Order: sequence, then C-alpha cells, then structure tokens
Amino acid sequence: MSDYDYDLFVIGAGSGGVRAARMAATYGAKVAIAEEYRVGGTCVIRGCVPKKLMVYASKFAHDFEDAAGFGWKVGESVFDWATLIYRKDAEIDRLNGLYIKNLERHNVEIIPSRAEIEAPHRIWLSGEERHVTAKYILIATGGRPNLPVDLPGAEHLITSNEVFHLEKQPDRVVIVGGGYIALEFACIFNGLGTETTVLYRGEEILRGFDDDIRSTLHEEMEKRGIRILTKDNLASLEKNEDGLTVKTIEGRTIRADQVLAAIGRSPYTRGLGLNKVGVELGQRGEIKVDDYNKTNIDHIFAVGDVTDRVNLTPVAIREGAALAETLFNNNPSITEYDNIATAVFTQPEIGTIGMTEAEATSAFDNLDIYLAKFRPMKNTLAGNDEKTLMKIIVDADSGKVVGCHILGPDSGEMSQLLGIAMKMGATKADFDRTVAVHPTAAEELVTMKEPSRTIRKNA
Ligand code: NDP
Repeated sequence: MSDYDYDLFVIGAGSGGVRAARMAATYGAKVAIAEEYRVGGTCVIRGCVPKKLMVYASKFAHDFEDAAGFGWKVGESVFDWATLIYRKDAEIDRLNGLYIKNLERHNVEIIPSRAEIEAPHRIWLSGEERHVTAKYILIATGGRPNLPVDLPGAEHLITSNEVFHLEKQPDRVVIVGGGYIALEFACIFNGLGTETTVLYRGEEILRGFDDDIRSTLHEEMEKRGIRILTKDNLASLEKNEDGLTVKTIEGRTIRADQVLAAIGRSPYTRGLGLNKVGVELGQRGEIKVDDYNKTNIDHIFAVGDVTDRVNLTPVAIREGAALAETLFNNNPSITEYDNIATAVFTQPEIGTIGMTEAEATSAFDNLDIYLAKFRPMKNTLAGNDEKTLMKIIVDADSGKVVGCHILGPDSGEMSQLLGIAMKMGATKADFDRTVAVHPTAAEELVTMKEPSRTIRKNA
C-alpha cells in the first residue's frame, strides 16, 4: 500500500498532462489530474484545433473565386460568423467529452479544481478545499498569452483566448505581432472578409523561419489584401463610439473593431506554489528540467510549454509519454528535439523542417541550395498567380539534406513525411533516386537537379 493518495498527480489537463496521466494509468499507476478550466488544454480548447477549423472556413472564399476558372458559376456567397462559432464550439465540446471519457476509461481521476503545491508531495485543491498527497507531481500547465499591460488602453486588447469567442465578426481588425498566431489569424480574418492589418515591430514577419519563406509569405499575404506594417508597434488604444483608435509608435492612426495581441506566450507558473518547495525557474519564467523532465526537486516533473523548450503540442505529448515510460514502465525515455517538422497554417501554408539557410550557413562550410518557385497546377485555370516555394538545403560535403522549407497548399502534410526522411538521415542523392508522384506539387522535391546557388566557405 502506497504512503500517498496517488502515485502521480498531474496539474493541467492539456496535451502533455493528459498523455502522461493516461499512459501512467495504463502502466498501473494511481493517477489524478487537476484542471481549473477545461480538459483538453490550449491546443484542443483554444488553440490548434479551433484555429484549424477557422482556417478551413476562411479558405472557402478563395475556393469560390478559383472555381469560376473551372467553369463554375458560384452564386452570391454569404458568410455567417455565428454559425461558424456555434459549430466550432460544438466540435470542441465533442472533443472535450472524448478527452474526459478517455481519461475515465483509464481510471484517471479528473479533479475540476485549481491545484497548488503546498509542501513536498502535498497539493492543495482550492476548488474542493482539501489536500491530497502524491509520490510524483507533474506540472503541465502550459503557457498564457502575453499582454502589454502598461500600454494605454491595453484593457481593450484581445488575445488568442478571446478571439475564438467573439460574438460578432469584426469589420476591421488590427493584429499585433508577426509570429505564428498573428499571421494565421490575419489569414483567417482576411479570408472571412474582415479588413485586416498586421502590425509587426521587426523588419520581416516570422522571425526564425527561412528568409525566402518569410519574404514570399509576406508578398502572398499582401496579394490577398492583408496590410502588413513592419517596423512599427502599438503606442496606445482608445475606445470610442465607432470602435477603437489605434495609435502606433511611428505615428500611424488606424481604426479597428478589434485589436488582437499575438505577441508570444509565457510559461504559466503563477500561483502554483513552486517557491514553497523550491522548484527552480529559468530567466523566462520557465520550469527548468533535465532530459527526463525532472525539475531540481526529485519527485517533481514538468512537461510541455511550461518548460519553454519546443512549444508545440506534439512535443508536449512526446514529453508526457516519455515521463510515463520513465516513471512507471521501467523504461527511461527522453524526447528527441532534432528535425521536428512544423506547419504554420497561414494562406499559403508553411511546412518546414530542419535548419534555415541562415542556420545552415553557420553550421556548415559548404551548402547547396535548391530553390523552386512555381505556380501550382490548380492556379493556372483558376487564374490565380499565387506561387508555391520549395527549398532544400544540403550540406555539400556529406550530401545530407539539413533543411526543407515549403510554402504552398498542403505543405504541412508534406513536411510530416519529409520528417521521416530527414530523421533517417536522407541525402540529396536519396531524394534524387526517389521516383516522382505525378502530377503533384510534391514531386518538385525529388526533381530539383541543379542547385540554384552554392555557398562555399573558402571560395
Ligand atoms: P511567436 O513567438 O510565434 O510570435 C510572437 C510575435 O510577437 C513575434 O513576431 C514577436 O516579435 C512579437 N512580439 C513579442 N513581444 C512583442 C511586444 N512586446 N510588442 C510587439 N510585438 C512583440 O508567438 P505567438 O504568440 O504567435 O505564438 C506562441 C506560440 O504558440 C508559438 O511560439 C508556437 O510555439 C505556438 N503556436 C504554434 C502554432 C503552429 O504550430 N502552427 C500555431 C500557433 C501557435 P519578434 O519577432 O521581434 O520577437
């Protein structure tokens, strides 16, 4: 009989926490999971999943336009925001229910309460006003959107938490930031017919991504009618009868109905009692963990965005699974962080894996860069001049493919498969001996013969 109420107590029922809880229970552990909001976490409730549903909704506008080139006469199309939000919410409710069922089926106790560590092995459940004890504690509380709280009028900003629940579609939106969330929502709003402005403080959107992808996405988004203002930032916000007045530091005045701040997220550690037990935090407020997700306190672990390593759902899931393996299946496991493929659901979409050209240039002496920019087949009859971009970065000495970057339809799907090849250490010669699938856009990946440019350190 254990000295504790639970073998594992998980704080936060998002992607990482749920996976760890469920797997630990499968291995025979007695597990509870506390969640103060809704089971499913950011990804399912107010992140990846509802976002992708809204991306689908917003794409129809472009599809209706393209259809005419294929002989379709499409009548007047009318979009109804309330229907989309209602149906999206119903789907999220369904998924939330499935998550709960799945945990219950594995005998994980779900505790709908805020949880706070108050002493080693002891947790206070404020919603239920009781204590519990656990042999191991896992913190999987994720992140929260940042807000520029000192900015005049900051109380009028919305974040990715609120954007999914707006009662009315804004006629005009200003989106602050140039990262994943800002650009995905800019494309969603634009597709749904909202006048959209992106306000980004840097030189070029999507810092950290390959430069060719960044500049081409910028061009394509502008072609679709999104206004992108760079090297500028919010100065103040004022509410008036006709919505909001946005003032920028470069002296612009923009009128908007909603202003979405998408300026990054921070690890959510506030009020968890970490200081009471001495859990060490890093400079960005993240929980510091070792390769096995262990904090500086032997029985306390953390996975997912709260550790601010690679902040992506599938990574949190991997970390949660690795932890359950390590603690309850006698199989010490770590997560591999190299060659993680990722997608940005802008329009056009980005699929990317491995190093950018800038990163590869610092890491290797000699590079071959293969670049193809073309109009995908569908766009010819559609009369749409949007381009697809594909870029392969090869270490010229070993022949190994070290980066692949795609901008265009279905590039997220492509990057998942490229991920397998790159995990296996594929070389450009392996790509070359792979027969193309025709007619597809992806065939370009195996038919680029000559480098578009070469980089030689000692040339
Ligand atoms: P990102 O880190 O991607 O982007 C933040 C943006 O805000 C950057 O452009 C940054 O500029 C800018 N910024 C930061 N601070 C300020 C400030 N004080 N004033 C003005 N601008 C500022 O964060 P997001 O919020 O877009 O997304 C959070 C995380 O969620 C992502 O990192 C990603 O891990 C995850 N996510 C993943 C998705 C996917 O996989 N498709 C989709 C959505 C989110 P600068 O570049 O100058 O620093």
